[in-house]
Amino acid sequence: MTAPHPSAPAEPPAEAHRLLRDLWGYDSFRWRQGEIVAQVAGGGDALVLMPTGGGKSLCYQLPSLLRPGVGVVVSPLIALMQDQVDALRQLGIRAAFLNSSLSLDSVREVEAALRAGELDLLYVAPERLLMEGTLRLLESVPLALFAIDEAHCVSQWGHDFRPEYQGLGVLAERFPNTPRIALTATADDRTRADIVAVLGLEGAPQFTASFDRPNIQYRVAGKDNAKRQLLDFIRSEHVGDAGIVYCLSRRSVEETAAFLSENGIEALPYHAGLSHAQRQQAQERFLREDGLVVVATVAFGMGIDKPDVRFVAHLDLPKSLEGYYQETGRAGRDGEPSTAWMVYGLGDVVNLRRMLAGSTAPEWVQRIESAKLDALLGYCETAGCRRENLLAYFGQEYQGPCGNCDNCLNPPQVREMTREAQMALSAAVRTGNRYGAAHLTDVLLGRDTDKVRQAGHQALPTFGVGAEHDERTWRGVLRQMVSLGYLEAGEHYGLSATARSRELLRGGAQFLLREEVLRPTSNRRKSSKSAAAPADLPAAAQPAFEALREWRAQEAKAQGMPAYIIFDNKTLAAIAALRPSSLATLGTVSGVGAKKLEQYGQAVLDVLGGLD
Ligand code: ADP
Ligand code: ZN
Repeated sequence: MTAPHPSAPAEPPAEAHRLLRDLWGYDSFRWRQGEIVAQVAGGGDALVLMPTGGGKSLCYQLPSLLRPGVGVVVSPLIALMQDQVDALRQLGIRAAFLNSSLSLDSVREVEAALRAGELDLLYVAPERLLMEGTLRLLESVPLALFAIDEAHCVSQWGHDFRPEYQGLGVLAERFPNTPRIALTATADDRTRADIVAVLGLEGAPQFTASFDRPNIQYRVAGKDNAKRQLLDFIRSEHVGDAGIVYCLSRRSVEETAAFLSENGIEALPYHAGLSHAQRQQAQERFLREDGLVVVATVAFGMGIDKPDVRFVAHLDLPKSLEGYYQETGRAGRDGEPSTAWMVYGLGDVVNLRRMLAGSTAPEWVQRIESAKLDALLGYCETAGCRRENLLAYFGQEYQGPCGNCDNCLNPPQVREMTREAQMALSAAVRTGNRYGAAHLTDVLLGRDTDKVRQAGHQALPTFGVGAEHDERTWRGVLRQMVSLGYLEAGEHYGLSATARSRELLRGGAQFLLREEVLRPTSNRRKSSKSAAAPADLPAAAQPAFEALREWRAQEAKAQGMPAYIIFDNKTLAAIAALRPSSLATLGTVSGVGAKKLEQYGQAVLDVLGGLD
């Protein structure tokens, strides 16, 4: 997918390898990081599309050090800037940020440091960058590069559109000689085209990584009693783990968080109805404490950098597969096994279809949204490999079975139920295309309810024709018919036959029902191991890992920083497994750079030395 670029050197300078080892403590580049660093360090532009956790930051941080001047990083994630800057300082990199959270004095300090050439990296919020004063200031100092992070925010089609981002076109005009590198974890073609157009990256090479997240296990189940299902899921597989639960409404956020807390799973609510301070606090606690669950509306999580989120659960359907991919992508940035778990039911499908039908957006926008919803529902209903379905949506060919989604692990039964679908259509049509799923089910099952009697529906030829199946099966049939567009939901949730349903009535189409698996057997039982420990940590290293974790928690608390900024779990686990007894050996562990070795090396050796 990379466009050839005449001047792109494929190899980064030797200095890049030295910095990678000395500052970050990494042995080698991942994927095409080396090429990207070479391209930008050489003065070229680049567009980088890489999934969350892929290693995007290094692609602009390293070239900022290799080139003279400061690297300017544009990011909409103001709340995270402090942590990002702290993390860089821990590596011995001179970094600062400019956004609306800073006092005037602090702003002056940062600007003075910038003028004095004392910064390697400067993080700026887009609205701050676009202020004339900031642009002038940047014109007066040497610049290494502009990195536009979360670049998909330029696109109106995405779910994270930020109007300020559209103003970033000014960078190409006013800083024509400064390289621009745009980075995003959103991969669809429309967003990509918008990024190129807005940021003036027409000639720039594009680096597109695989969007597969092999460590995430995708699971979707029928909604039965959502809160109870969620609790069972967490209890059986994710006790003590950090996780995010998404709900659509504030009320369900509050109720779900309270329900989990009452049942021994500490959970915080997060939604737009809370005060800024409350939201800030929930986010802080989630980042800094181990094993917290946040129950949130989609307002939570963009750019959540926490590497060890072990599960993302959806109690309501997201709006599109892009949204789903982004939200589930917040799990497992550290590459360790994680779960994307979702339940959905007939009511959700009907609701989304109705919302769309009631939309006042221009018709072409509605068409796009409707196509997005179809894709999402197709993903939910598929009996094939979910990973294959998801990646196909992003234009990536992937051949299942992946072995790590519910359908691959536990292939669902698929039953031909064309006759049943015809019965359901007939029930809808004969009752006047205006009754909801519950009533249609009663008619099909031949139930003698008040509503049935009042409407005289017991006299219909369809009455009771479906008695051979149970209610759950019929709800499954109806849900899938709405998902697939054979029935549509109108006013008062009434279901009516669509033009498409004629194919079914004429026998021109087959209706295959994916059997409900209400409670998919869990595929990964929790061992007695610590929740946060990486999956491959040998049992013998467990006590050392725990001791190091305890030390890290104290250290993080003392410095007021998230624990992972000191060392992430992977690095701690590697140290625990190696049990080094000298600084030199400790320095060989991936993730232990020179600065961290100097700052924490002795303390780590002391912890290990005091073990037995
Ligand atoms: P992204 O911004 O793409 O979501 P990050 O830049 O935060 O991803 O990197 C994700 C994780 O991968 C981080 O923990 C980072 O330290 C690690 N990482 C990145 N590049 C390398 C590398 N070359 N070697 C080892 N670890 C790396
Ligand atoms: Zn699969």
